[in-house]
Amino acid sequence: MHLKRLELAGFKSFAERTELEFVQGITAVVGPNGSGKSNISDSIRWVLGEQSARSLRGGNMQDVIFAGSDSRKAVNYGEVSLTLDNTDQQLSLEFSEVTVTRRIHRSGESEYFINKQPCRLRDITELFMDTGIGKESYSIIGQGRIEEILSTRSEDRRGIFEEASGIVKYKTRKKEAQKKLEDTEQNLLRIHDLISEIE
Ligand code: ATP
Repeated sequence: MHLKRLELAGFKSFAERTELEFVQGITAVVGPNGSGKSNISDSIRWVLGEQSARSLRGGNMQDVIFAGSDSRKAVNYGEVSLTLDNTDQQLSLEFSEVTVTRRIHRSGESEYFINKQPCRLRDITELFMDTGIGKESYSIIGQGRIEEILSTRSEDRRGIFEEASGIVKYKTRKKEAQKKLEDTEQNLLRIHDLISEIE
């Protein structure tokens, strides 16, 4: 699985629809200060579901929408699509190419798509779980992240190893199942109360 293509439109400094093709191997993005290099990595984290505006260097999420410049007026929505080669079927979808898209409107509402089909953020999170690609995972190492990882509490560091070993999916499912069990126990208690009231 590798990153094939990134398309940005109305995202941060990328007002026009811009397409970046990534070939196998190493790609370096070079450019003067403030030309938008970091905006590219921000866009990858954003399309993967980043919910923190601060970590995208903004005050609120709408700040990722192109805000206008001297020569061009602001746009109403921002959109990023990320396409991965999935010929090795590492992502559990029967497509050789998988494209995830996120669109945000000035209202702050985000829409998500997998291969152009509307989906929930949760579907995207689950798709990338244990693949190392998720927004929090180790495939995106930002400035200062290495020191952060090394200085962080060992329990937090453990999350990185859990993602790499592929057990996050099972831990998440276990947590959901435990929550359902607790809810069911509460419902049963309520039913018992009601029955004893009737009797
Ligand atoms: P450096 O090399 O200094 O780290 P960089 O190439 O990584 O710089 P970025 O931080 O990616 O640059 O881009 C910063 C530019 O993006 C700034 O010029 C800023 O005005 C522009 N920018 C950020 N958000 C928006 C937005 N919503 N609308 C328009 N332009 C934006």
